[in-house]
Amino acid sequence: MTNQDKNKKNNLFHEIGLLFFPSRALKRFNISKEDFKRVQVNTSKRMGFLSFVGSIFGIVMGLFLVIFTFNKGWGDRGINIYIYSAVFSLFIGSLVSCILLAFPLFSHKDYKWATGIGDSLFHASIALTICFFYVADIFNGELSTTHSVSTSLLLIPLLILCQPGYWQISVIFNALFAFAGFGLVTYGHIFFQTSATLELILLCLFYLVACYCTYSAYTYVECQRYYIENKNTELLSRSIHDPLTGARNRNGLRLYLEDHLTLWKKNNEKVLVIMCDIDDFKLYNDEFGHLNGDSVLKTLVETLNNAKDLHHFHVFRYGGEEFLILISHAQESEAFTIMEMFRKSISDLNIKAPERAPYPILTISLGGALWAVKEDYTFHNHVQDADTALYEAKKGLKNKSILHTKYIQD
Ligand code: GH3
Ligand code: MG
Ligand code: MG
Repeated sequence: MTNQDKNKKNNLFHEIGLLFFPSRALKRFNISKEDFKRVQVNTSKRMGFLSFVGSIFGIVMGLFLVIFTFNKGWGDRGINIYIYSAVFSLFIGSLVSCILLAFPLFSHKDYKWATGIGDSLFHASIALTICFFYVADIFNGELSTTHSVSTSLLLIPLLILCQPGYWQISVIFNALFAFAGFGLVTYGHIFFQTSATLELILLCLFYLVACYCTYSAYTYVECQRYYIENKNTELLSRSIHDPLTGARNRNGLRLYLEDHLTLWKKNNEKVLVIMCDIDDFKLYNDEFGHLNGDSVLKTLVETLNNAKDLHHFHVFRYGGEEFLILISHAQESEAFTIMEMFRKSISDLNIKAPERAPYPILTISLGGALWAVKEDYTFHNHVQDADTALYEAKKGLKNKSILHTKYIQD
């Protein structure tokens, strides 16, 4: 066996091991206590769905047992109050929990109370049904009257599969149910000399182990799902942001437009595109080094983003030291003031300019294009107009704002 094969085998055992040790799964998927609370909310929702499916099974089985009981299917000797209680608990319990669990599922609203009560009621009614059947058998003096073992064999897998959503509830419920089982079996054995004691005790033990395995496997799946969803969000965020400045990049701009363009056209939105470029940045890098240049880019984005009294605006890194600012709901009367406010906010930083630059402090130039968005609007043409305005601003001593407008009647 090669080392690679051994590693694969070890990985497989490790992965299987993770399925049954929730604390290891939490470590493996980097899930903190806070995250685990969210994982539990998701688990509860999915378990709610499983319980919903289980409750439908419970209703069908309950209905079958109601018919069976009223047709004297248990035989004259077998019928007693405990059998009625078992059938009633299965049918009514499943029906009510099915209705409660359907609320959040079909209304797509977060009725946590309905999921919680429905889930607990479903588990309690199935557990009660099993106990009532067993008690019915004890008092009938034989275990086979209502076939309580076979009924349990049908209902117990339902309880194992449909675990309660929260681990605390799951532990309490499963422990209570298993101990009730032990108690009843021992009681039946001592006072009524019931048979199958060992089988039933083994069934209780098997129930506890199976519940543990099922719940930890569900937790593993839910942790993995949470981890993958978080990773996806993180990767998407990385793909649309520039790692140096944190501003959205060209990909971010593309996605932003995909989200907004239709609405802009529908509302004939007035959109201001500002292309903004650092003056003589090459000289800055040459004199102070690229690392200082990087810090300037970061500070610039922070400053632009902190523009006061301005809403609905986004800053994108368009190229090396060119930034595009998008402002929707823009008015002609304030467009130029906004551009000047951005320009001034950068010169107010008082960053020392390179020796050969015309000003003692670092400055930027801005080219703006304020357009009303019509049916034939293209963002490409809009940016081109802003870029032309930027070239005009760069003429002469730079450090200026130039604004173009199109289709605007304020
Ligand atoms: P102008 O006033 O005409 O814009 O002159 P300029 O020197 O700013 O423009 P030019 O296009 O000649 O140079 C842009 C410079 O921006 C060149 C490049 O080194 C610098 N630059 C682009 N991206 C980065 C970056 O991520 N970090 C740093 N430090 N510099 C960058
Ligand atoms: Mg420049
Ligand atoms: Mg440039």
